[in-house]
Amino acid sequence: MTTIAIYPGSFDPLTNGHLDVVERAATLFGRVIVAVAHQTDKSPLFTVQERIGMVKEAVASLSNVEVDDFQTLLVDYVRAKGARVIVRGLRAVSDFEFEFQMALMNRTLAPEVETLFMMPKDSYSYLSSRITKQIAALGGDISQFVPPHVERLLRKKLAPSSSRAPVNP
Ligand code: ADP
Repeated sequence: MTTIAIYPGSFDPLTNGHLDVVERAATLFGRVIVAVAHQTDKSPLFTVQERIGMVKEAVASLSNVEVDDFQTLLVDYVRAKGARVIVRGLRAVSDFEFEFQMALMNRTLAPEVETLFMMPKDSYSYLSSRITKQIAALGGDISQFVPPHVERLLRKKLAPSSSRAPVNP
C-alpha cells in the first residue's frame, strides 16, 4: 500500500529549502502532496493560485509529488486524503517550539497521523520565505535561494510599477 505524506505550508514563496524537503520526502514516500494553505496569519504576498503554480512548476520532474491546496483543519485534510504522515521542515531551534506545539496538537486531534521532521541541506537552514522577500524587496540577489521561475515572479510582484525598471533586471 502506498504511504501518502502531506507537506503543508504557506510557500509564500516556495524556496530552495522547501524544495529540499520535498525532494527528501519524495525518496521516502510513495506519494507526497505539497498542500498550500489558504489559512495563514502571515498576510501572504502571493495568492493561493500563484503559490500553487510556483510549487507545481518546481516539482514537475518529481513523478510522485502532487500539489494541492487546503482550507480546512490540517488533520481533517490529511484524513480526507487517506494520508498517515505530515512532513514539516525543521531549520533551527527557533522553529522547534512552534513545530512541537503543532505536532502534539495534531496528534491529540488525530492520533493515527504522525508528524515527521526533516532537516534541509545545511546551507538552507537559515533560509525562509520571509527573509527572501525582504532581500528581494531591497533589490538583493536571491538567485541562490529560490528557483529561477520564483525569482522572476517575486521581482514582478515587487516591481514598484511597470513604468520603472526593476532594481536588478
Ligand atoms: P508555515 O506558514 O506553515 O510555517 P512555510 O511555508 O513557512 O509555512 O513553511 C512550511 C514548512 O517548511 C515548515 O515546516 C517550515 O519549517 C519548513 N521550511 C521553511 N523554510 C525551510 C527551509 N529553508 N528549510 C527547511 N524547511 C523549511
